[in-house]
Parts: sequence; C-alpha cells; structure tokens
Amino acid sequence: MRLLLTNDDGAYAPGLKALHQALAKEHEVWVVAPETEQSAVGHAITLADPIRVHPLTQESGLKGWAVTGTPADCVKLAVHELLPSPPQMVLSGINQGANVGVNLLYSGTVSAATEGAILGLPAMSLSLATHEPFDFSYAARVAARLVREWDGLGVPPGVSLNVNVPALPPQRIKGVRFTRQSNARLHESFLRRQDPRGHTYYWQAGEKMGTEGDGHTDYPALRDGYVTITPVEHDLTHRRALETLRTRALELPPA
Ligand code: MN
Repeated sequence: MRLLLTNDDGAYAPGLKALHQALAKEHEVWVVAPETEQSAVGHAITLADPIRVHPLTQESGLKGWAVTGTPADCVKLAVHELLPSPPQMVLSGINQGANVGVNLLYSGTVSAATEGAILGLPAMSLSLATHEPFDFSYAARVAARLVREWDGLGVPPGVSLNVNVPALPPQRIKGVRFTRQSNARLHESFLRRQDPRGHTYYWQAGEKMGTEGDGHTDYPALRDGYVTITPVEHDLTHRRALETLRTRALELPPA
C-alpha cells in the first residue's frame, strides 16, 4: 500500500521513525510531517503565512518532506500537492504521550488522522502513553497489524481510529479494547515566572489526567494496560441536545 505518515512531534521524532521502520519493508511509505514540534495545535491550518517544504534529509532514512505547517496542513498538502498519487491510508504518530479524553480536541496527532478521514482516506492516529524515553517498536507493530487488518474492521468512510498503546513491556499489555472517548482532562496548572526584563509570563504545565470514565472509555482502559481504539469523527453535533432543541420554540428578535 501507499501510506502517508505524519505526526505532530516533528519529522525527526523517534515515534515517526519507529512507525516508518515497521511499515517501510512491506509498503510504499511517504513522510510529510511538521519541521518542528506542533503538539497541541489541534486542527489548525495555516492561512496567513506561506507553507514551505524541505525534502527530508538522506540521513533520516525517510522519503518525503518536512513542512513549516501544522499536522492538518501536512495531510492536505501531501494529498493535493506533494505525493505522486494520493495515499491509500494516513497514519499519524506515533505520538509521545497518550491522546485520550478531552485531549483529542487539542491533539495535532489526532487532527492529522481526522483530516485524512475528511479527505475520504482510511486514517489512524497512534500514541504511546508516556512522555519518558521509551521503545516505540511494539506500538509500531500494533500499527502495522492494524494496517493489515483494516479492511476487516469495518471502519466507515469519514471515521478515523485513535489508537493508544500503554507504555508497558509487550508481554504485560492485556489486549485491545474498543472504547469511547472519556472525559479525562488535563489538570490545569501554570508556572508563573518573570522574564529578564521583569515582565510576568506563564507556561502551561498541566500534565496529569483526571480519572473520569469507566473501563469502556479510553483513559481508564489504557491505564488498565489495554491498547485502546476509539473511532473518531469530525461531526461535533450533540444529537440528543439537537432533538431537545428542536422541540423548543425560539423566536428571533423583531426585525
Ligand atoms: Mn505530540
């Protein structure tokens, strides 16, 4: 298959390299990824600035481009401009750090996969649940297995899979759980400091997730030692609320 790899940790991140290594033997693999880290840029796209692309270095062992844009830019640009023909699947990751709960909204990793799905391509985002240095190779093998099994999973067009792998030795991973997104969220905290000119600045430091949700949701299952797979769509409509709203009368102010 012709695969597009991207991420939000940057084109030279170890998680991307591991993903490439696990897939390049069997597949035609192209990398189009941000030149610098773009974690937590969400689904942002670049409109007010040019987007520059640089061929990936020979030493990286990767074929493709580093892009001065966001993960979503990378997918759009790869599909419409850079690749000789459109990819058959988009893989985003492997991110350093879990993408579960409310974090899906902030995640550049997840948004790149969502962008692939919006463009009508099979797509998945992959994350390893640690910010410490860790061997990505097992998570990359999970990705390779999912590529192989994709057709049998029945994922409808427009839907991407968000995959999280626990940072455990492979023999301690308990299996796969198909999950819903949990309500887990960052506990906000800010470092308050002074710059050299005496001005106060803030730096977001929140990392710990809440514990909300049950074992059928992503964060609790991941903490329990399961690979979690959550189907994700871009439609943010809350259907039950819509039904309720449609039973209410709301009149506009007089013209
Ligand atoms: Mn990241």
